[in-house]
Order: sequence, then C-alpha cells, then structure tokens
Amino acid sequence: MDFERSQRLQKLPPYLFAALRQKMAAARERGIKVIRIDIGDPDTATPDLIVQEMQKRIADPGDPDRHRYGCDRPAAEFPEAIKSFYKRRWGVSLKDEQVSITTGSKDAIVQFALGVMNPGDVAIAPVPGYPTYNIGHVFAGGFTHQVPLKPENGFLLDFDAIPAEVARLAKILWISYPNNPTTAIAPMEFFSRAVEFGRKHNVIIAHDAAYSENTYDGYVSPSILQVPGAEDVAVEFFSLSKAFSMTGWRAGSVVGNASAVSALKTVKDNVDNGQLRAIQFCAAAALNNAETLVPPINAIYQRRRDMAVGALNAAGWRLAKPKATIYIWAPVPERYKGDSGAFATDLLETTGVMVTPGRGYGQWGEGFFRISLTYPDAVLKEALDRIVAMT
Ligand SMILES: *Cc1c(COP(=O)(O)O)cnc(C)c1O
Repeated sequence: MDFERSQRLQKLPPYLFAALRQKMAAARERGIKVIRIDIGDPDTATPDLIVQEMQKRIADPGDPDRHRYGCDRPAAEFPEAIKSFYKRRWGVSLKDEQVSITTGSKDAIVQFALGVMNPGDVAIAPVPGYPTYNIGHVFAGGFTHQVPLKPENGFLLDFDAIPAEVARLAKILWISYPNNPTTAIAPMEFFSRAVEFGRKHNVIIAHDAAYSENTYDGYVSPSILQVPGAEDVAVEFFSLSKAFSMTGWRAGSVVGNASAVSALKTVKDNVDNGQLRAIQFCAAAALNNAETLVPPINAIYQRRRDMAVGALNAAGWRLAKPKATIYIWAPVPERYKGDSGAFATDLLETTGVMVTPGRGYGQWGEGFFRISLTYPDAVLKEALDRIVAMT
C-alpha cells in the first residue's frame, strides 16, 4: 500500500539538494571522480579531552550513564556548564529557568516552533537562511514571512523591510550571526535593534548562534543576551556541533526568555528523551574547556579559508576573508547570469566538484554558491584547482 503523506509534509518546499544528489550519482556512473565540498559537517576529530571524558563515562559496564534515558536523571553539570560558559564568554548571567539543554539546534528549532506557534500563525525568517526555521513553522501549522538578506546591507536583516501587519502578527523572528550561508557577522547594535523590534511588536527574537565560536582574525562574536533587557524578548540557540566538532553527539542549549524556554522544555518533555547522560557530561567538559579546545579547531578553518579565498581571488573573484563560520559564500561566475543551479550542475558535470547552489537557501540566495571548509586541505585544494581551471 502507498499511504498518503501528511499535508504538512506536502507543504515543505522541494528539497533542491535531492536533484543534485541524483546528478552526483549520474556523474559517478560516468566515471567522474566527485569531490564534495558542499556539506557543513566538521571533518576534524572531536578533541581528545571530550572523547576521553566519554571513555571514562562508559568504562564501567554496570554504569547506567552509558545506556539509560538521559532525561530522567539529567546531569546538572551540563546546564551549569552552559551558565558558566555564558558568564565567562559574554558576561551574561543566566538563572536556571532561563536555560534548557537541547539535543542539538536543528531539533530544538522545530520543537521551539511547536511550543510557541498556533496553526495559522506567522513567523519571520531570513532568506537566504537555514531551512529548518521554515520547517518548524510549517510543522506547527503556521507560515513563514521571508525577509531578504541583501549583499548591499552586508546580509544583515533589514527590520524596516518587515511589513507592519507581519510585525503585528508574528510570533518569532529568526536571526543568525555569524550567518550560514552568507558568512556575515553582525555588530552589537544590530542585536540591540533586534531586541527593540521584539519589544515593540511583542515578537520572540530567536537568535541561532550555531557559529558564535567559529571566528577568525581575533573577531569575537556577540551574544544577543548582552543587550540589556534582551531576556524580555530573546532566546539564543547555541550548539556544540560546529564549535567543538561534535555534530554527531547532539548537544546544544537554548537560553534567554524564561517563558519561551519553558515552552521548549514542555515540548521536549513530550517528544524527546534527551541524550545519553554520558554525552551530557561530555558536553559539560567541552564547554568548561572551550578556551583551550576551540582555538586549534579554528586555526584549521582559518588556514583553509585563506587558501580558498586566495585561490578564488587569484582566479578573478574579489572576496573578503570571512571573519566567521566554516564557509565561503561567493557569487557565481558572470557567464551563468546568476543561475546558481546551472553553475553547480555544470561544475559537477565537467569537474566533479560539488558545491552548494545559493538557491538551495531560498530565492534570495540565488546568484551565489557556498563552499564548506570542513574537508581536508588536500581535498579542498584539489576542488579549488578544478573550479579555477573551469572558470
Ligand atoms: C549546523 C547548524 C545548526 C544546527 O546544528 P545542530 O547540529 O543541530 O546543533 C543550526 N543552525 C545553523 C544555521 C547551522 O548551520
């Protein structure tokens, strides 16, 4: 039997990357050696200190920490480590009720929408942007009002571009800096403006800070909670995935407005059972040692960033080195007239190199492509050589 899919699944936008995946398989069949530089998933190992913590936590076969539900006896060390991290890192003091651990930000973004949106509600998301914001809204029965991030504004969301009616009705406004896919960073006054917008229109400002630790050249990324009074309207999604090369471990946090955090916790109580308690201890160990664990990871990305930007600029691009994230965001060559899908397909079929077309992040991502720095130097170099040879 073929069962019909739910309307909510039917409402999801077509998965652009599925088509590219087919083209990738076809290219491989024709004997082309495909080199992927498209996915943002760290190749570098999780730091030893964290892995050793895990080995210690699971050494005893009789220890329930290595097999039982993590939600029933949560390790207080994890939320405590989040609080300590916010204090050390940003000077932000958090109360217990302002902190929720998560099984990663992707899960938490959807859970959060389920916790604060009603069917028919609208929420605001940037385009280009992380597709999960919209997916959360759709799963909650709501709608997304898309706001463009434009190169001429440094890819900062323009609050004045949000129609008054949308501002009045919206439940959530998503922002994310350092930004995926554009690599843009936002100054403190941007976060102040966001908080002001939330206060004026009674909208939750949800800041996705997935890349707050992936920064270069001495740049230090702010937290929205550094804005005085931000906890009245804002929540921040932090993830250990990119900061500590822990994507598979599934650990993160949501902190800020206590009522919004509480709504998320209730959803979590009802739909997930948390992560293994051993992982919770490891997440705490990671956060408690961020000052020593993060810089060596960033040194690798910084070296690859310099290599990638150098290679593209030598071939005629005029890119500034991104100050943060694990990506390069570049315009497609002129002869593709802004068609990122055509560029990505052509690149794949003639050179075997797989990049991400900007269109995959929504209509205003068109004209750009994204390279991920999460591949070994030699792989990245080979891919760049092929791109440069083709353009
Ligand atoms: C990678 C990423 C996340 C989530 O990562 P998790 O592994 O689910 O914590 C969230 N937002 C953006 C923008 C990302 O790129």
